[in-house]
Amino acid sequence: MKRMEEMILAKGKVLPGGVLKVGSFLNQQIDTDLLREIGDEVARLYAGAGVTKVLTVEASGISMATAVGMALRVPVVFAKKHKTSNVDGEVYQARVHSFTHNIDYDMLVSRDYLLAEDRVLIVDDFLAVGAALTGMRELVEQAGAECVGAAIAIEKSFQGSSDKMRAEGFRIESMAVIESMDENGIRFRE
Ligand code: 5GP
Repeated sequence: MKRMEEMILAKGKVLPGGVLKVGSFLNQQIDTDLLREIGDEVARLYAGAGVTKVLTVEASGISMATAVGMALRVPVVFAKKHKTSNVDGEVYQARVHSFTHNIDYDMLVSRDYLLAEDRVLIVDDFLAVGAALTGMRELVEQAGAECVGAAIAIEKSFQGSSDKMRAEGFRIESMAVIESMDENGIRFRE
């Protein structure tokens, strides 16, 4: 998506360790025109896939997932990273290593919100080493539901997981795919 690439070039900041800071338009302050465009584009790409639910993980995936859910007119479910009193009863649970924070955490979804008959589209802001996406795929599998694919705002293909998953037949649609980035610049996949 051209606009996403333009925003990354204009406002993104490359940090050491392969991290891209996008707080000014995606992560902390959210550009709502861009968000609407992302929602429409993902809905266009997955039209006909029979999506019944969008799944993401808190917190940074929620805005994009909501935009996608609104465009597809399906409910949005987000996995929680902590077991709070709002997560009652039986849960699906997966252990994940966070690339940005270098910690392990559990992602949890109440069994009430992912059903065996669901066709789930996973949405996230970034795809880096793929741990978050793999964790969410595990949750869908535990529910006995079908995962139709993933929609990602920014994929960092140089971190290795995304093309491996595609080669295994898993569908990933990313609004921007970064092939390389350093202090000299950012290169997108054509
Ligand atoms: P993964 O599990 O694929 O390594 O990382 C996915 C999660 O880590 C995303 O949900 C996102 O929150 C965070 N993340 C990974 N790479 C970046 C990055 O370059 N910038 C930002 N802001 N977050 C990232």
